[in-house]
Formats: sequence, structure tokens, C-alpha cells
Amino acid sequence: MPNEAKLYVVATPIGNLGDITVRAIDTLKEVQLIAAEDTRQSKKLLIHYGINVPLLALHAHNEQEQSAKVLALLQQNQSVAYITDAGTPLISDPGAQLVNIIRQHGFPVVPIPGPCAAIAALSVAGIPEPHFYFEGFLPNKTSMRTQRLADLKDLPCTLIFYESPHRILCALADMQNTLGNRTAVIARELTKKFETILKGTLQELSLILEQDPKQQLGEFVVLVSGQTQKEQVSQEKIDKILRLLLEELPLKKTVAIASELLDLGRNELYERALLIKNK
Ligand code: SAM
Repeated sequence: MPNEAKLYVVATPIGNLGDITVRAIDTLKEVQLIAAEDTRQSKKLLIHYGINVPLLALHAHNEQEQSAKVLALLQQNQSVAYITDAGTPLISDPGAQLVNIIRQHGFPVVPIPGPCAAIAALSVAGIPEPHFYFEGFLPNKTSMRTQRLADLKDLPCTLIFYESPHRILCALADMQNTLGNRTAVIARELTKKFETILKGTLQELSLILEQDPKQQLGEFVVLVSGQTQKEQVSQEKIDKILRLLLEELPLKKTVAIASELLDLGRNELYERALLIKNK
């Protein structure tokens, strides 16, 4: 009998257990093994749908060795499904090594598409710009986060970030400081009881979250509008505005006002204003 084994990469719900396709359920029932990022987490879903298939833990810290076990099963003509804790595997999730190993050994890797938090957020954001850039998680440390945001600053498309509850406020502040006070959307707890979609400038959104700590809980997707085709302000004009403001105001206030006027990030204006002040 020819070997027809396959690896299925299956998208699972991002909160609401109802968000799974008929094909995903059928696939999870038919395979001989389900490799899961967190077997305890996935059991809830599998029990809900009466799926009783052996599980194998396959996560970022054991991906290589567990992939070898998956490969061995495929070589014995047994099909395997891979699922992560939520949404589409490999999207800010492990699975890339597994997929590469299995494909390198000649077995088909089949996507079973479904929920993805970034796409769900985009679908309700109401941002007319059709292009987007998916960043996922920014670095934990402020300095590295700011550097990364500076790298993304000139992209002319919507920027999509994943964020956790304990970093959301710092991340929003860094975004405002580095990207300027752009329009953004916060999609929180999508498909769950406390689902909230907020749209406004980064400053307005920060204020809403600061004033209501409940809005800081849960899982977040943050979408920030891209760099618009605005007229490039010359360095000469920026320096002139900074110089005039510095004659009347302290450094911090100068930077805050110039940032609003010029729609430029505070960090870069701060560096420049400091230079001018110390001349
Ligand atoms: N693979 C997943 C996907 O397809 O979206 C993402 C996995 S990543 C490890 C988890 C992050 O996705 C969370 O920290 C959060 O930023 C975002 N996320 C996942 N579920 C979400 C939800 N229900 N609402 C908002 N964001 C969510």
C-alpha cells in the first residue's frame, strides 16, 4: 500500500470554541496523532468536540526532537495534525521547524485554514488602506522595542502587533513616541465575553486604558495606521520650529508641541531639540 500519510496544520479557535471549521474537526478526528503546543489547553477543545486521538506535546522548546517523532509516524503511514494554543499555527507560534522537516522528507504538509487574531482584528478595523505589515510581538525591552518601531516607522501600510496585558500601556506609549500620534485600533479579547474594539489616536487609546484598568486585561491586537504620503517636512523647518519653541518653553514641552504640530515621533524630535539647545 503506498504511503499516503500527511501532516495537517490545523487552525483552532482564538477564544470562542464555535470558531472552528467542519474540515478542521473532521481532520482532527481522522488523524492518528495530534501534536499540540500545550496538550492541556488543547484537551478542552478536543473534549468539546468529542475528539479522542492521542496527543504529543510539541512546542518551541522541544520542536526538533518531537518533529522526529512525528516524522517516524508519517513513515509508518500514519497522518498527524498540528495545532497550537489558539488560531493559526506558525503565526507568532511554533511549527516552522516541524513543517520544514516533514516537507524535506517528501510528505505533504496540508493547511486547514481558520481563525487568526490579526485577520479577525483587521476585519473590523475599518481601515481603508488595503496593505498591511504583520509584526506580531515587539521586543520586551523598551530600548529594543523603540528601535524596532523606528525601523517600521516609514512603512506606508497598516502595522499589526500582538501585545500582552502587562506590556500594553508601555507599548502604546512607545508607539506614540516613535511613530507619532497616529490613528490606531485596539482589538481586545476577540470572540470572547469581553471583546472590545477601540479606535482613536494612540494618545486617546492610551488614555482610555489608563482610566479603565479593566481595558488593560486580556489579549490584544494593535493596528496602527501606516506612514501617510504627507509632505516631507524639511530638516530646516523642523529645526526652526524647535528653535522658536525652545526660546519660550522647556525641552519636554517643546518636544510635545513639535510632535503634535509636525506629526513626528517624540524620540527623534527630542534628540534634535537637545542638540539645538546645547549648541
Ligand atoms: N497563532 C495565533 C493567531 O493565529 O492569531 C497567535 C498566537 S500568539 C502566541 C498569541 C497572541 O495573539 C496574543 O498574545 C494576542 O496578542 C493575540 N491574540 C490571540 N487571541 C486573541 C484574541 N482572542 N483577541 C485578541 N488578541 C488575540
